[in-house]
Amino acid sequence: MIYADHNATSPLRPEARDSMLAVFDLGATNPSSVHAKGRTARGVVEAARVQVGGAIGSRAADIIFTGGGTEADALAVQGVVDALEGACTLIISSIEHEAIAKSASHSGAAVQTAYVTSAGLLDLDDLRARMADWDKDAWGTPVLCLMLANNETGIIQPVAEAAAIMREAGGLTICDAVQALGKIPVNVGMLGVDYLSLSAHKIGGPQGVGALWHRAGAPLKAILYGGGQERSLRSGTENVAGIAGFGAAVEAAVRDLPKYAALAKHRDAMETRLKADGGVVVIGEGSPRLAGTSNFARAGFRAETQVMALDLAGVCVSAGSACSSGKVKRSVVLMAMGASDALAESAIRTSFGWNSVPADFDGVADAWLEAARRTVLKENV
Ligand code: PLP
Repeated sequence: MIYADHNATSPLRPEARDSMLAVFDLGATNPSSVHAKGRTARGVVEAARVQVGGAIGSRAADIIFTGGGTEADALAVQGVVDALEGACTLIISSIEHEAIAKSASHSGAAVQTAYVTSAGLLDLDDLRARMADWDKDAWGTPVLCLMLANNETGIIQPVAEAAAIMREAGGLTICDAVQALGKIPVNVGMLGVDYLSLSAHKIGGPQGVGALWHRAGAPLKAILYGGGQERSLRSGTENVAGIAGFGAAVEAAVRDLPKYAALAKHRDAMETRLKADGGVVVIGEGSPRLAGTSNFARAGFRAETQVMALDLAGVCVSAGSACSSGKVKRSVVLMAMGASDALAESAIRTSFGWNSVPADFDGVADAWLEAARRTVLKENV
């Protein structure tokens, strides 16, 4: 079997597994308990906080552990809207993950869309023009939500430039870095954002664990109330084993950044074959992209047919962004880039990660070309 769906979830890294097993072996681990067991658990959580903070150039104190990337996004979006008492407008890029887009539409705040160009990159000129005309009295604080790397295309967004525009205008920037962490260097200071969300399972950590970084002093209100954990910004007993796994995974992922970057040459070779022999269009080919992501389309070869054919051949890939519900729908991300219906319906995402090997890329190309020959290319054989 070839696993080419790392952007959906990445297999657990051995380092993460070992650190989680060590926590399970500790027995009772509530970091809020004052006794010895509790203090040990507290030490595990704080060590992981240092690891996660260190991976993004932040102080450990500015990391809030959450129950995953979706919750980190929700905390950022709703937490800002609540802290600003609704006196804000959320400007959501048209390619955001639903965790951001749907949180925004449920937040009660006014929402605008920030458009991307046909290259899949945020239109900075449009953002600049919008901020030049911003009427803070009428529309409140502008809050941009811009992801660092797109989950479907892997296209890396000009976040630092956009955040500078927002800062100049007295606005704020929320950055969903769930797909970027451990794949490109992520540094909150260099990005200049105010909030940054992370998830463990995209980099070989466990599912159901994530974090929100926020700049000290940035407005933020809790969305969960209870025991006051995580400096009262995320109540609920911490997932100690999961947090330990996250810390170990992020450390390993940052160590392996050069290894991940080296995937690009195999990805490019795979795309060269698919273009030459299969007539595919590579989405975002000319834009900066994650080394391990390739989103490609072949008009007339429906995405779900491709996914099923590859599955039968033992190759795991995704269509569109609908990995969550199991259903396949036309890619909103590709539509936002102005792709035709025919292209948006026939795009699939292949994504490689920490345990991918060169043969995986050849295997995907072989299986895809074989499936295409039986269907869309059959007139040519
Ligand atoms: N943001 C992006 C860009 C993602 O790709 C995902 C996962 O698909 C999420 C947020 C949600 O993260 P989680 O699965 O940890 O809730």
